[in-house]
Amino acid sequence: MPRPAHGSPAGQPGPRRDPRPSPAVTARTTAAATLLLNATYEPLCVVSSRRAIVLVLADKAVSVHSAAEEVHAETLSLPVPVVVRLTRYVRVPYPAQVPLSRRAVFHRDASTCVYCGGSATSIDHVVPRSRGGTHTWDNVVAACRRCNHTKADRSLAELGWKLPHPPRTPSGAAWRLLGARAVDPRWREWLGMPESVSA
Ligand SMILES: [Zn+2]
Repeated sequence: MPRPAHGSPAGQPGPRRDPRPSPAVTARTTAAATLLLNATYEPLCVVSSRRAIVLVLADKAVSVHSAAEEVHAETLSLPVPVVVRLTRYVRVPYPAQVPLSRRAVFHRDASTCVYCGGSATSIDHVVPRSRGGTHTWDNVVAACRRCNHTKADRSLAELGWKLPHPPRTPSGAAWRLLGARAVDPRWREWLGMPESVSA
């Protein structure tokens, strides 16, 4: 007796396996980050190592500093790029200021309370917001819970407290590019940062 010719003997008509090969670049490094320099060696931004490899393979960038480990592409192997430089100069408008965030303030103030030097657990508005203080880099500092609580809505003059130095807006290549993000030690020399300073 004729039967409709559908279904497989195994009885598992699930979705077909896609026979396409794995992506062109396969490595554990897809989550790693690479510092991208302009043609002038000026730091531009941080890209995924995968993106950096694509730029190098397309001759749009050259590797300046590579890791010991290699990444395997379809037809070749190459060292994982840590720092790459664009072969052509690009003009990039930079954001005027580093975005203000709790994490960035902690980073600027080294997670230290500006009033007592203890371990910071909160951010404080030097001029309280209730008194018209702004949420800007020059009015926000890292503070410990005790100082924050003691200070409450009072001004520094009322408390007789002083800041060790006025809160500053962070600047420089590292801040512009990375904000509060961790710096790969191998990027330091390209960011104009001393080798020994910890992030
Ligand atoms: Zn404190």
